Amino acid sequence: MDWPISMRIFSTIENAVDQVLSRINSDTRMNDIKKYQLSKSTACLKYTDILPHNEKSMPVTKEFLQKVIDILMDFINETNDRNCKVLDFHHPDKMKQLLDLEVPDKGVALQQLIEDCAKTLKYQVRTGHPHFFNQLSCGLDLVSMAGEWLTATANTNMFTYEIAPVFILMENVVLEKMREIIGWNGGDSILAPGGSISNLYAFLAARHRMFPGYKEKGLHSIKGQLVMFTSDQCHYSVRSCAAVCGLGTDNCVEVPSDKRGRLIPSELERLVIERKSKGHIPFFVNCTSGTTVLGAFDPIEEIANICQKYKMWLHVDAAWGGGLLFSNKYRHPRLTGIERADSVTWNPHKLMGTLLQCSTIHFKEDGLLISCNQMSAEYLFMQDKLYDVQYDTGDKVIQCGRHNDIFKLWLQWRAKGTEGFEKHMDHLMELSEYMTKRIKAMSDKFYLILEPEMVNVSFWYIPTRLRGVPHTPEKEKELGKICPILKGRMMTAGTLMVGYQPLDERPNFFRNIISSAAVTESDVDFLLAEMDRLGHDL
Ligand SMILES: *Cc1c(COP(=O)(O)O)cnc(C)c1O
Repeated sequence: MDWPISMRIFSTIENAVDQVLSRINSDTRMNDIKKYQLSKSTACLKYTDILPHNEKSMPVTKEFLQKVIDILMDFINETNDRNCKVLDFHHPDKMKQLLDLEVPDKGVALQQLIEDCAKTLKYQVRTGHPHFFNQLSCGLDLVSMAGEWLTATANTNMFTYEIAPVFILMENVVLEKMREIIGWNGGDSILAPGGSISNLYAFLAARHRMFPGYKEKGLHSIKGQLVMFTSDQCHYSVRSCAAVCGLGTDNCVEVPSDKRGRLIPSELERLVIERKSKGHIPFFVNCTSGTTVLGAFDPIEEIANICQKYKMWLHVDAAWGGGLLFSNKYRHPRLTGIERADSVTWNPHKLMGTLLQCSTIHFKEDGLLISCNQMSAEYLFMQDKLYDVQYDTGDKVIQCGRHNDIFKLWLQWRAKGTEGFEKHMDHLMELSEYMTKRIKAMSDKFYLILEPEMVNVSFWYIPTRLRGVPHTPEKEKELGKICPILKGRMMTAGTLMVGYQPLDERPNFFRNIISSAAVTESDVDFLLAEMDRLGHDL
């Protein structure tokens, strides 16, 4: 029988609500922390009874670590169980009472450590749960996690080939592959502790490229005021570069964006000319591919033309949208022209689901990173080593030690293959299209703010009392007030997490993110039904 569409929607929602009701109070599994019991002889032992303190303690060491693994396996299991909650929320004061966080004078026994581990995860938000839509980094990719476990066990530092030979070679291979996907031959890259620092690296390299004297002579070597440009929708780390690097945020010029959140190229050119006429030196333009709130893509080609015309460095911040480079279906037009950039930030820990953290910065020109950042510490980067010292990457960065962020990405890529990443990206985009379609079909309950370009879906939830009321600025204000209350109800119920924020003139609205490989169409149905269940009376 072919039901009218409204009937079919109603039935979907009803099913989802039934599922929710049967779920309430079912999440008690990890509450039983006492179930993680070490054997009697092991329980009261201390850290000095396991390796490396006691050479004969392999069996005890193994029992201890196996028990930790049991806890982790339960967490993984619950993360993937839709009958379990996303979180068990408590206010900070209550949380302090629930936990014993004291660092004691005398160390505790192994059994207590096991219970500490279990309790820690009991109250941790399950960011890999299919009903966690709150952040750009969602999901728990188990292959990548296995990589992170291995990384922790290897516990090495990424500054020299000497102590991380395999991992250094992996970095070279993976980063070269990523540059190839961007569309470059050669170039150079490095992994950085997050996209914000990746953007900082781009800024530093750009300034060094144009003003090589800055490294030795500092501020006074540049005669004139450096100015950078970015859209008003960019990530705040771009402005932070201006603050940290001596420009001042007044010299990070905000270029207006259009209704869909994309930088307006004609406005960029106007502002560049305006600053030039004041005698300033425009030198750097940040183009965002996938803005943090709306998921908008600035038009790279048109911005690249302006950069070429005024001899400015073009940086593409694709921390969020970079993953779509894998997708033949979605790469264009969003990232068309990215190969014209001088530098690109791309965070595998966002759309690609690599475990936190994993962020990369790429340069079209080779040699800049080392020339910009090299300090030639004699105790670490000796030039007369046994091996080819260009594999010592530590002198390319402003850090000294560097965490190993490559193995989890390399292993994940081995598992999925490049094709697997393409499928993954397409799946996330298709689910977002599904969500947009459902929201439009339920226009009495949800108001879609704009057609999304990415997996960010921006919308308002409309409670019963406001349905059918004409959409005016006053109504938007009212809908905005509902967001924090409904979010609070989600967290207290523990069944769902979706983020909200205001943006420019717009009051609070929900921004849903589908960036977890665990999410299915029925999870999207659940999300919409659950918001309605929790919020209809607001
Ligand atoms: C998330 C994000 C960043 C910052 O990345 P972190 O890894 O959180 O430091 C920068 N730019 C954009 C567009 C982002 O979405």
